[in-house]
Amino acid sequence: MIKFVDLKKQYLGIKKEIDKAIGGVIKDSAFIGGERVKKFEKEFAYLIGAAHCVGVGNGTDALFIALKGLGIGQGDEVIVPANTFIATAEAVSAGGASVVFADCEEKFYCLDISDVKKKITAKTKAVIAVHLYGQPANMDELSLLCRKHKLFLIEDTAQAHLAKYKEKTVGTIGDVGCFSFYPGKNLGAYGDAGAIVTDDEKIAFKCRLLANHGRIEKYDHLIEGYNSRLDSLQAAILSVKLKYLKKWNKKRRCLAQKYNELLKGLPIVCPEEFSGASCVYHLYVIRCKERDQLRDFLKSNGIETGIHYPVALPFLKAYDRLAARPESFPVSFRLQNEILSLPLYPELTEQEIRRIVQKIKQFYASK
Ligand SMILES: *Cc1c(COP(=O)(O)O)cnc(C)c1O
Repeated sequence: MIKFVDLKKQYLGIKKEIDKAIGGVIKDSAFIGGERVKKFEKEFAYLIGAAHCVGVGNGTDALFIALKGLGIGQGDEVIVPANTFIATAEAVSAGGASVVFADCEEKFYCLDISDVKKKITAKTKAVIAVHLYGQPANMDELSLLCRKHKLFLIEDTAQAHLAKYKEKTVGTIGDVGCFSFYPGKNLGAYGDAGAIVTDDEKIAFKCRLLANHGRIEKYDHLIEGYNSRLDSLQAAILSVKLKYLKKWNKKRRCLAQKYNELLKGLPIVCPEEFSGASCVYHLYVIRCKERDQLRDFLKSNGIETGIHYPVALPFLKAYDRLAARPESFPVSFRLQNEILSLPLYPELTEQEIRRIVQKIKQFYASK
């Protein structure tokens, strides 16, 4: 059996350090705030290359608080890709602004700039670029476009920890970068966790206030905020795992290359890398016409796969109010029936990849 993700395997590889970190927090019984959170925020900001990092409760809150911190809300519009996890759009609605979807492009699956251009109105305040599957979005063009229209550029970096776009680490290119440390992400906590990174001191200050009841000091509240904090236990775990992130990403890239190599010649579209970008393969997503049959075949052979995402956001029940038509998001609409995520994580072995590919070849041979 080959699992789609195997968090236990990763834990067993670093068990001693993790157990010590968790034991340390419990021994001190300092669960909220404190040195461990500060330490992780500092380490993460340094590694990413951002001036400030604000730990928050999860990736969705990172987006929500970043939008609030930028003053975006009621009456404003925010452009969001049609093909992403719902959290990207939810954060916009939760803050009172309106979600405006733009289609993705066919090659790298990130925002289609020409569609973004069409969606800009006088009410547009920001664009959220999602570095989907670990692949950087086209940040040069997006930055230019946002500058021209005086829009904030927010990066949803939940799937792209340490991915590079032309020497820059994603999350540091736009006005704010929003990270998730959900357990299955490239850098994952042992529960929910997230972070906001920015070079702008004012934005960082505002986000820090918002994430912790608007407080400056205990019982001194400058504004009304929220309760969305990175806790000490998660921070301690993340500090341990952060040391391995580069190595793990490298391993993901090697395994992705292996897949590309072995899948050659099959009627499958393999992921491509944007020139000048370095993808961190949060997911390894292929495209094929017989997606559902292939998925069933792999499942019956003990190989788990995923679909990211089976229904593009505009077509979800949750967005019925927008009455989206397939013709308005042709690429996302087509992709939802063709994409398939194969297992890919640092602990996966080359041998397992060979087995997966062998089964895929067997599937096509029987066609
Ligand atoms: C995981 C994810 C989020 C949300 O992160 P949570 O920590 O689960 O709230 C947001 N955007 C994208 C693209 C994600 O993959």
